Parts: sequence; structure tokens; C-alpha cells
Amino acid sequence: MASPSPGVRSFFGNLNGPWHKRTLQAFMIVVIAHWAEHLVQAYQVYVLGWPLHQARGVLGQVFPWLVHSEVLHYGYALIMLVGIWTLLPGFVGRSRTWWLAALVIQFWHHIEHALLQGQAISGRNLFGAPVPTSIAQLVIPRLELHLVYNTLVFVPMVVAMVYHLFPSAPDAGAMRCSCAVRPHPAVTVGTGT
Ligand SMILES: [Zn+2]
Repeated sequence: MASPSPGVRSFFGNLNGPWHKRTLQAFMIVVIAHWAEHLVQAYQVYVLGWPLHQARGVLGQVFPWLVHSEVLHYGYALIMLVGIWTLLPGFVGRSRTWWLAALVIQFWHHIEHALLQGQAISGRNLFGAPVPTSIAQLVIPRLELHLVYNTLVFVPMVVAMVYHLFPSAPDAGAMRCSCAVRPHPAVTVGTGT
């Protein structure tokens, strides 16, 4: 396998260095907006008592096809996976452990969506179900399952972000980005001497 060209390397180097802060901010806005949609949908079902088919979050009320299109669900799961993986090298120390946990969980979540997507394309559903059905869905219904998945991915991301924004001294010393809220003295030591 050919190693990536210097241009590609410096692009990913910048994403995890000088551009990490902005890229991470943009990514987290997308992640929170998507998670909020899942929360609104759960609210519509459990608190407002709407039928499941009509509980489509906020954007889904205006664009129902957003919720009913399996390819968009799969596309979003893929964007999440690629986003978490791409921004991983910028995380060091404790924050890296938590971001990696989010990556592993999102990898499985994405496999489940790939299974759903495969069934939507082939028109043949697993387990003889009337609708596309993923593995964990055998135990937990779809709305609740994806609320659980998104929570399981979101929580370690938040913990990783806290450690990334407020790093310990050794972690701060190893960071190549400007995400830390207060750059630790360890980062600036030596620049004036
Ligand atoms: Zn960063």
C-alpha cells in the first residue's frame, strides 16, 4: 500500500494541529444538532404521545424523507465515524482514551446502519422482519436503540472534550493544537529563554 502523499499528510497534520479547534467546534455543532433531533423525537413519543411514524424530530416535520430515508441515516453514521477517526490524532493522553472509546462504539453503530442500509437496498429484511432490522434491534426497539447508541457515543466524546480543553500538564505539553482553554505553562516554557 502506498503511503499518503506529503500534501495529504500535511492536510491531516493541520486538521489535528492548527485547525483542530475550528474543525472540532464545527463537528461538535453537527453532533449536538443530530443528538437534539433524537431527543426531540423521544419527547414527541413519550411526553406528547405522538404515534411513532409521525414523531420525526424538528427537521423531519418539514422534511419527512429525512427520517424515512435509510441512506441518510447511514450517511450520517458514516460522517460521524470518519469525523471521529479523522480528528483522533489531535487528542493526546486521557482525552485520547475517551475519544477512542467513542470511535469504537460509533464503529459498531455504523455497522448496524450498514446492515439496515443493505436491507433497504436489497428489499430483503433480516430475521424475517417486516422492516429493515439491525442486530441489537432484536433486543431494543429502534427509537430507543439509536437514542442509546447516540448517547453511548456522545458521552465519551464530551469527557474527551473536557480533558482536551482542560488538559493535565503532561497532556498539554504533548498537544499540537490550540484547543486548551488556558494553555498550560508547560507549553510556553522555553519560548522566551
Ligand atoms: Zn485540539
